[in-house]
Amino acid sequence: MANRKYITYNEVHKLCQNAAPKILSEWKPSLMIAIGGGGYVPARILRSFLKTPGSPNIPIQAIGLSLYEKLATDGPEEAAGHTVTRTQWLDFSAVKQSDLVGRNILIVDEVDDTRTTLQYAVQELKKDVEEAAKLMGREGEETRFFVFVLHNKDKPKKGALPDDMMKEGRYLAAETVGDEWCCYPWEATNIDEHDRLANEAALKKVTAKPNGN
Ligand code: 5GP
Repeated sequence: MANRKYITYNEVHKLCQNAAPKILSEWKPSLMIAIGGGGYVPARILRSFLKTPGSPNIPIQAIGLSLYEKLATDGPEEAAGHTVTRTQWLDFSAVKQSDLVGRNILIVDEVDDTRTTLQYAVQELKKDVEEAAKLMGREGEETRFFVFVLHNKDKPKKGALPDDMMKEGRYLAAETVGDEWCCYPWEATNIDEHDRLANEAALKKVTAKPNGN
């Protein structure tokens, strides 16, 4: 079984806060699309840090994608399935097609594991944008997608993101981790125990360093 990494709400908050200045100054998104359910909390936190005085909050749309299946164990780990299932998609009564075309759109998820989900999300959203652009006769306008995740697992990926996205730095992982199971606070059934395990691991890390700093 893979090691577990326990992440606290406080850490999630700070990972979003630290990423926000780059997202705000360089990416300038006008719409966030959170991949549910792990992308919801990071997207909501980011929204506060992306707010500029005098401008409205950046709207958050949600899509639901599922690749993982619950293992028959007592633990939090889930096993990767083979196909991505859509459980929810853009709500076109709330998001206008003109909100997509020619815009900068930030896709938010909590973790990039095999990258299958992110590949699917970008591919399918691109299709929607192309369709919308065609309908509006605005094919010439460039819509740029950006990806933000809290954690990227440093491992061979099954999925791929577009070359231009990677080359142009339109992908940001707040933290790169090993191939371990990330336990997020919103999944915890006992948040005090979750935080205790996170603090214990942090303490071990500090004491394991030769000088303790
Ligand atoms: P991928 O398509 O990159 O393999 O997986 C993405 C999705 O799988 C994530 O959005 C998340 O729901 C789930 N997932 C993959 N690895 C982890 C993990 O370490 N912890 C948790 N909580 N979910 C994970």
